[in-house]
Amino acid sequence: MKISELFYSIQGEGKRTGYPSFFIRTNLCNLRCKFKSGNLCDTPYTSWDFENPSNLGDLSIFEIIKEYKKHYPADIVITGGEPTIQGKELISLCHEIKQLDKNIFITLETNGTFFDEYALNVDIASISPKLKTSVPFKTEFEKGHEKNRINYKSLKSYQELHEIGNLDIQWKFVVTGRDDMEEIQNLQKQIGFDNEDVFLMPEGISENNLSEKRLMVVELCKEYHYNYTDRLHITLWGNKRGV
Ligand code: SF4
Repeated sequence: MKISELFYSIQGEGKRTGYPSFFIRTNLCNLRCKFKSGNLCDTPYTSWDFENPSNLGDLSIFEIIKEYKKHYPADIVITGGEPTIQGKELISLCHEIKQLDKNIFITLETNGTFFDEYALNVDIASISPKLKTSVPFKTEFEKGHEKNRINYKSLKSYQELHEIGNLDIQWKFVVTGRDDMEEIQNLQKQIGFDNEDVFLMPEGISENNLSEKRLMVVELCKEYHYNYTDRLHITLWGNKRGV
């Protein structure tokens, strides 16, 4: 698999915040987020700059699991980049992890643009659909991002798997301001997810960015009856890799 980094830390976002976790950060993404604050994606070395030499490169599933075993039985968080664009390898990775111990808790973090049978072998899908404010500038490349950022069929498939009881789910939205709420609510109507599974998260890649938006997002959560999630790893360590 094309891997950016492997590291052991705590989960900083969503329902499993605070759980000791081994992060498998895959390289490559099908989108290119750039927020209206001017911030790029929080992991640009997997998307905008995926050829960055600091990325680990091709690793076998055996090598990944060997590294994880040093931290067993921690949670595993498969994140990116966008892990699902390496769908075939992802199916094998999830399968091998569950062969090691079916109780290892796997979180799949995804932008939700693809769905395949790997979803059957993870415990929670943490889906972060990218809103209009993830692409405020209109170069030719960014128009490609705009066209592909939401795949309703794929998002519905995750929700259906959740509804039949085979998958926990959380819908995690990066919020830049009140303007995002209409789009979130429209998406909720179309996909049919519950408020209790929605987490709003302030957009930002530094503690300063987060502290400017935190209270605004908390107030939106209270008003719309959604959950709030912070980005604990940024508060603890700043915008560093491997944490
Ligand atoms: S979808 Fe995620 S990894 Fe891809 S560009 Fe956007 S924020 Fe970065």
